[in-house]
This record gives sequence, structure tokens and C-alpha cells, in this order.
Amino acid sequence: MPLRRAATDAADDGVEFYVDSGWRSPEYQEQLLREAISKYGSEEEAQRWVATPKTSAHVSGDAVDIGPSGAAAWLSEHGSRYGLCQIYSNEPWHYELRPDAVDHGCPSMYADAAHDPRMQQ
Ligand SMILES: [Zn+2]
Repeated sequence: MPLRRAATDAADDGVEFYVDSGWRSPEYQEQLLREAISKYGSEEEAQRWVATPKTSAHVSGDAVDIGPSGAAAWLSEHGSRYGLCQIYSNEPWHYELRPDAVDHGCPSMYADAAHDPRMQQ
């Protein structure tokens, strides 16, 4: 598992590394979206931050949220080597598996999830 290798190598560099949120059930993602809608006031605004159960990479199992910020900084420098890429500029903690990144580097980021074509339904 690339994430485990990254965590081990980060530890060698003295960087603490934990997974805040990995796989989520569709029900849990739905709950997060509902909470975000009440927090941000509209579904449109909420979807800049929280995906629907259908579109979330957390539900499909390809995304992790990592912490603390030192680990995110370490991954932004070394993540592509493990095929782990930051996807959204506004979510420095959110990483997804991009196996191609090992050879080609990470793709350029979207400003936020609302700009991600995968999120258009
Ligand atoms: Zn995330």
C-alpha cells in the first residue's frame, strides 16, 4: 500500500503521519454533505468542500485525508513518488492515488472540488 510506504519513509524523516479519514460509507458521506450544506448555506457552496456519495473519492476508496500539516507538507514534496497526489488547492490534506504520478508527476490541481469534472453529474 503506497500510503503505508510513504508513512514509513516520512517517519524516517522524523515526520509524524496519520490518516484522518480514509474510506467512507455512502451514508457517512451523505451525512457530511448535509452538515456542509447547513454550514455553508447552499448545496453549491457545500460541494466546493464535500462531495456527494456518488462522486466522493473517499467512498470509492481512492482518497485519504492526512494530517498533521507537517505530513501534508512532506507529501506535497514526496507524494508523487508513491503515486499520491494533492488534487485540490483548497484541501492540502486530501490525497488521492494517481499511479501514473510515479513516472509522470502529479497532474495540476483544481482550485476546489467544484472545478473537478468528476464532480459534474
Ligand atoms: Zn478528502
